[in-house]
Amino acid sequence: MPDPQATQQTAQRILLVEDEPSIAGPLSFLLRKEGYAVTHVANGNDALQEFEHGEFDLVLLDVMLPGLPGTEVCRTIRQTSFIPIIMLTAKDSEVDIVVGLELGADDYVTKPYSASELLARIRAVLRRFECAKQSEAGESPGNQLAISGIELDLDRHTVTVRGVETAMPLREFELLELLMRHAGRVLTRAQLIDRVWGTNYYGDTKTLDVHIKRIRSRIEVDPTNPELIVTVRGVGYRFD
Ligand code: CA
Repeated sequence: MPDPQATQQTAQRILLVEDEPSIAGPLSFLLRKEGYAVTHVANGNDALQEFEHGEFDLVLLDVMLPGLPGTEVCRTIRQTSFIPIIMLTAKDSEVDIVVGLELGADDYVTKPYSASELLARIRAVLRRFECAKQSEAGESPGNQLAISGIELDLDRHTVTVRGVETAMPLREFELLELLMRHAGRVLTRAQLIDRVWGTNYYGDTKTLDVHIKRIRSRIEVDPTNPELIVTVRGVGYRFD
């Protein structure tokens, strides 16, 4: 008798958009070896065409593409779809990273990347997307968030840090909630400010840093060496 789990599982489909053959070849090979179905295209226009006609679970998107840049591909896909997008960027291209995340990419990996890092990011993004779909379907109560020893009670607005309930002002609570809801994903400074202070906020971004510092002093074991809320230099913050 066939294993029902094995027959149920179809390969997850990845659209790989990468113009550099020396990267695309080995990467396609690696992803297929991991059990993913891969469609590879080498430019942005082909990417949008494939995306429109195929069904995918994730897009791996190089930013530097001939013709239509990766950021435009990301923007266009986001107009119609919440599909997970991971950007492949050159090292030190902080601007590309920030722009991509603000256009709705879920994560990024800088080249040269390690295979294990990239695969871990792919799995994390796919898992998060699955969880989000399930909680939208009402399978999780949604009024509690618990990660890495930090529990948020969203009804009572209380924070429990490694078993000890602690008070937290509203803005800090909202900021922490946002970071925890997107655990593992980098949120840019502008995204955090927009969501917590609103798009009409004209103050300077130091306010954000001050709030992050206060949250760290409440939840981190060693606030000078944070392990929960990590600074991503030049980009923003990530809850690990
Ligand atoms: Ca490229």
